[in-house]
Amino acid sequence: MSRSDEAATDLAYDEPLIFELGAPGRSGASLPALDVPEVDPVAALGEAARRQSPALPETSEPEVVRHYVRLSGQNLAIDRAMVPLGSCTMKYNPKVNEWAARLPGFARLHPLAPERMVQGALELMWRLERALAEICGLDAVCLSPAAGAQGELTGLMMIRAYHRSQGRDPRKVLVPDTAHGTNPASCTLNGLQAVPIATGERGILTRAQVASHLERGDVAAVMITNPNTAGLFESELPAVAHVAHEHGALVYGDGANLNAILGRVRPGDLGVDVMQFNLHKTFTTPHGGGGPGAGPVAFRSALAPFAPVPRVERRPDGSFALVESAPRSVGRVRAFHGNFGMMVRAYAYIREMGAEGLRQVSGLAVLNANYLRAVLGERWHVPFEERCMHEVVLSDRPVRDGGVSTLDVAKRLIDHGFHPPTIYFPLVVKGAMLVEPTETETRRTLDAFCDAMERIAREAAEAPERVRTAPHRTRLRRLDEARAARQPVLRWTPPAPEPAQPG
Ligand SMILES: *Cc1c(COP(=O)(O)O)cnc(C)c1O
Repeated sequence: MSRSDEAATDLAYDEPLIFELGAPGRSGASLPALDVPEVDPVAALGEAARRQSPALPETSEPEVVRHYVRLSGQNLAIDRAMVPLGSCTMKYNPKVNEWAARLPGFARLHPLAPERMVQGALELMWRLERALAEICGLDAVCLSPAAGAQGELTGLMMIRAYHRSQGRDPRKVLVPDTAHGTNPASCTLNGLQAVPIATGERGILTRAQVASHLERGDVAAVMITNPNTAGLFESELPAVAHVAHEHGALVYGDGANLNAILGRVRPGDLGVDVMQFNLHKTFTTPHGGGGPGAGPVAFRSALAPFAPVPRVERRPDGSFALVESAPRSVGRVRAFHGNFGMMVRAYAYIREMGAEGLRQVSGLAVLNANYLRAVLGERWHVPFEERCMHEVVLSDRPVRDGGVSTLDVAKRLIDHGFHPPTIYFPLVVKGAMLVEPTETETRRTLDAFCDAMERIAREAAEAPERVRTAPHRTRLRRLDEARAARQPVLRWTPPAPEPAQPG
């Protein structure tokens, strides 16, 4: 990466937006003249009929195509560059999975089609559930939750329902301070109280830390991510699970980081009772930017009666059925069957990789992260001594004296053609950069990333202002991030119509 900062940007930002290019009456389609009697829409549709023009931009097809192709080029996506966003597992998504999800027999299914007409789709769901159960070492899986966070919510709902069925209603959930923000949020949404547990120097949860909280018997669950978001393997998880179970608490596993242990260790074997998968992370659906998610929940058979509906079942004659109601189920968590296209991608991926391929995923993901840890550790601060799993935490400590911060480093990486890593997370490390290379990056790309980080470190000493004012190669520099998040302008608003001519 030796593109000079001053070189003209290859991203054309200053052209007009498509909405400004149109002209009244211009269109991307020309329809033949009507050859059936015209129907009055209000007479036919009543209240549902549109009475006013929707005021959409009127543009030609080439204008529309150019607009979207240009926009796609302005997006720093995984198909353009490495996206080392820690905890997000932004790995490359094989195109063959996209082909599979777009097969008309899958893509054009209607969610209300009768069961006998969608046997193939139900079989795929059933097989995916079996495969995921095998991968995580639990008894059964429900596919419908639409994101990791919704999977957490669903799993915790099942845990509450389970305790209630035993005539109890403990409300506390022990959550280590390394947890993703969705963990305490899912507790709160469920009427449960997240109790933060400080993990300390080693960065992992220990039996002793949880044991003291369990004695009063008011703990519903221990919620634990393995490996955690500091990139560390929770080696005391079996002991933590054991003491939790002794006190009647269940163990919820946040499975978002499964990429690091795929095919090597199964959360169920470590004592986890219920967990979610993030199919969009581990099982390759393009994500980020608000794309679709899928957070299937896996559970032990003791929790099965409380699983959400619908469930896919295989009848004795080998056909497949969708079971829409179950007396003790927590109910429906998602419209129809969830994000079905992602199930096709995940199933295709698992079948392509096979058991040996999935093992290789975690091996390479961990190797790549430790390669970065070794090379970057020469220049940057690595806060945890232990070898990392699939992601490595660095901090801005070496550049702070020059007035350069993690945010500046992240912005400067954009000038070098890399998406920034996750920053200021995990919260337990000051000025954290959480770097997750994933298994799909080559040695050459990893070296280019290290090279960019080395240049930034040198620049932070020699010309810190250059880092503090980055990025220099994008049209927009530093945004007002609070305003961008709170008052986003996401919609084009048509100009007010011209006032009618008098007379
Ligand atoms: C991504 C992530 C989540 C949330 O998953 P979403 O699909 O974004 O809702 C939860 N926990 C961890 C550790 C994660 O990395």
